[in-house]
Amino acid sequence: MGSFSHMIGQRVAKNRIRPLLQGRPEQVYLITGPEGIGKRMFASEMAKALLCSQPNENGGCGICGPCRYFEESTHPDFIHLSPQPGEKNIRVAQVRDKVVSDVFLYPQISSRKVYLIEADYLNEEGQNALLKTLEETPRSVIVILTVSDTDKLLDTIISRSVTVPLTPNTDTEIQEILLAGAGLSAKEAALVSAVSKGIPGVALGMAGDESLSEIRTVVADLLNVMPVIRYSDLLSVRYGFFEENKERIGEILTVLEMGLGDIAILISNPSRPLLRVVDKRDNIIRMIEKNVITHLSVDRASAAVSAAARAISSNYSFESSVCTMLLSIQKELSHA
Ligand SMILES: [Zn+2]
Repeated sequence: MGSFSHMIGQRVAKNRIRPLLQGRPEQVYLITGPEGIGKRMFASEMAKALLCSQPNENGGCGICGPCRYFEESTHPDFIHLSPQPGEKNIRVAQVRDKVVSDVFLYPQISSRKVYLIEADYLNEEGQNALLKTLEETPRSVIVILTVSDTDKLLDTIISRSVTVPLTPNTDTEIQEILLAGAGLSAKEAALVSAVSKGIPGVALGMAGDESLSEIRTVVADLLNVMPVIRYSDLLSVRYGFFEENKERIGEILTVLEMGLGDIAILISNPSRPLLRVVDKRDNIIRMIEKNVITHLSVDRASAAVSAAARAISSNYSFESSVCTMLLSIQKELSHA
């Protein structure tokens, strides 16, 4: 376990909880953000800092007794509420036993008690059971709620809380997280960060996923043959890959856009060593030299990819959206 200074990104959220790190905490926090963004990790760091006997600007000290207990998951004043194994929601009985009646018991080793509640798993009954505690929180108690979908929370809970939104990380931050945590090469990290939408949990999940590098290989090959491919191949074998991987079309189109970005780089610098997608480049270079592939044609090809993404998300025919896109890209990258 680290500290806030080890946590990459989330500068806005860190600023928002600065008073807590300076010893002036609020009583109820609501950590929001998409699944995989790191809400539980962030909330845990807050809890550790709140329970530490000598916290600093970076959070818990990591050395004192309370910090040690916290890191071993045995701190008696830290209560973490999530669904029991095999269950979808937190039971109302859990809320009553572990929170509502527990808040009146004194802390045992720290100066306060901290409750971390995964509110995505609280149904309305569970939320109602919690309301009174949030309205009359004892002074020695701090509640940290995490939630992906704030629409599921009662307004009264939101209005009682100080909201701390976690936002998607930048590509550079995701690459830093991947290089630190997943042992990827810089090229792989660049590819994964581009398709992860800035969400560390998604990026780390993809890091071990062989199929993403397969998508990259197929897209790289497709772009390289585009200037010379026959229609019949394009619309049968090549289209077949899209059809077979329909459920990953978002990732495929993102990688395709990145590949076109590589081609734009090649126009300015044909010998550029590190590209994110394109590996074989002979056919592309030939077309660039003949002035067939230009910045304008790459822009048009990219526009065709965006148009296909929009069409598919509005439920237009998958086949005709993808084939229209493939034909447009081929037209832009060849003499056709
Ligand atoms: Zn400590």
